Amino acid sequence: MASINLARLLKEGGVARASGAVQEAFHVGEERFPLQGEALWKVSVSSVGGHEYWLSGEVEGVVLMECRRCLKPTPTPIHAHFQHMLRYEPGLKEVVFHEEAEDEYYAFGEPDLDLLPFLTEAFVSEMPFTVLCEEGCKGLCPVCGADRNLVDCGHEVEAHHPLLGLKDLLPEL
Ligand SMILES: [Zn+2]
Ligand SMILES: [Zn+2]
Repeated sequence: MASINLARLLKEGGVARASGAVQEAFHVGEERFPLQGEALWKVSVSSVGGHEYWLSGEVEGVVLMECRRCLKPTPTPIHAHFQHMLRYEPGLKEVVFHEEAEDEYYAFGEPDLDLLPFLTEAFVSEMPFTVLCEEGCKGLCPVCGADRNLVDCGHEVEAHHPLLGLKDLLPEL
């Protein structure tokens, strides 16, 4: 479980630390981001006075993203840092994000704080929008679907560029 117990910190102040690993994948809604190996994380939570705590951490792993040209799963190293203000509100059943003017914080009410949402958000926002399996990946043939890195199917790609068909659809001016 990716969580940290803050019972002692809540009572005595100071700093609490935890570390661990996320296995297999991160999930956001229906979307799954598969990992190669596991993603390692470490987190510290420091008392900053009153009911406020400063959460600081990092998560590091290799996510498999589809190459944007040939769709091959491509190992993509990610190293993300994150920092958030936390506010302890005893009795609160779940973690709630608050945003008031310049003031942003997560309110929590249980000493066991689930870290997975923080790790997931940091990791996924650090992922690039697209990747290439290698510079110069030749991609899939738009005619027959062959991986042109592996086979030469002989199709003339330029002649089948999707935009070329467009001019037939446009009315003559
Ligand atoms: Zn590729
Ligand atoms: Zn082809």
